Amino acid sequence: LEGGRVMDDSQVIVLFSGGLDSLACYYWAKERYKDIMGLYVNLDTSYTIAEIVKAKKMCFDLNLDFKVVDMKFMGIFSDKVGHVPLRNIFLLEIAALYGNTILFGMLHGELSEDKGFPFLRRMQRLFDSQTKENLYHAKSKIELLAPFGNKTKTQVVKYLLDQKVTPFQLSETIGCLKGTVCGECPPCFNRWVAFENNKLYDIDDYFSHPVFWGIEEFKRSRSTNKNMFKKSLLSIPLWEKRKWIMDVWRAYKSAYDRNLCAITPGTVLKTILKG
Ligand SMILES: [Zn+2]
Repeated sequence: LEGGRVMDDSQVIVLFSGGLDSLACYYWAKERYKDIMGLYVNLDTSYTIAEIVKAKKMCFDLNLDFKVVDMKFMGIFSDKVGHVPLRNIFLLEIAALYGNTILFGMLHGELSEDKGFPFLRRMQRLFDSQTKENLYHAKSKIELLAPFGNKTKTQVVKYLLDQKVTPFQLSETIGCLKGTVCGECPPCFNRWVAFENNKLYDIDDYFSHPVFWGIEEFKRSRSTNKNMFKKSLLSIPLWEKRKWIMDVWRAYKSAYDRNLCAITPGTVLKTILKG
């Protein structure tokens, strides 16, 4: 599932949202396959339009075929932050209709159950049962790959820099629940951590800087179980989150060292672990 084999006879689908993770999947695929397409599934959430605009432009610049599949009706199931429950099952299913190798941009220690190797293994078994046994299915194999499933966003950004992706290209990717760079949502925070750890200082033009929002959010997480960081730390064993916690600590250390914020890295670590 992590991939690694070189195949060039398949139609490869990169689930392409215009974010850092899907960009990394594209570069990973480009080294291994010829026939690649970026696929965006329109779930009509609050940030859909912003993602389509960015993803379309990025694919044009990369000379990558791009397709939008309409599944707008699913938007009515979206919660207030724009999360559609069970969506990754649908995304993989739709991608499987268009290609036989599917690249899924999940990262290490993510919050939702439908992102992670146990989920991907179950989906792989489901597809195997349909391709081997089903008379109506022309494909012999559907392969699900998550080449960055053991990596953090900091490592993904490093990978992209190693591929000679420029800071400007990185800043053009999208990853915000408001479709902007609000600086006050978990994706914006995780993106800042990844950039800071790669010495890409403040390449996003935030409305509000995530370094301050993040620490306040960790403090708030002590008092409410609904807080995203709290949920993430409670629902995923600390062992699974260790790489993310280390990345957050490193980013705060970097911010402290360059006088961006006065919070000591030790205080940050204590605040996260108490949360
Ligand atoms: Zn945001």
